[in-house]
Amino acid sequence: MDKWICTDCGWIYDREIGAPEGKILAETPFEFIPCDWRCPSCGARKAKFEPLIGLRFPKGGLRAD
Ligand SMILES: [Zn+2]
Repeated sequence: MDKWICTDCGWIYDREIGAPEGKILAETPFEFIPCDWRCPSCGARKAKFEPLIGLRFPKGGLRAD
């Protein structure tokens, strides 16, 4: 699984990109991200993320703003 989505705000973690704001390097598997890492968009805990599967979410995520 290469992409995970924040169920609070729709921000997507893409393994190819990583999360520069959280100092997560590209190609870091989501499982290897520290437990205290937070969503760079809304601050939700890592546990709030779910694997992004198929077309369950619209392109661009669920951002309301
Ligand atoms: Zn979020």
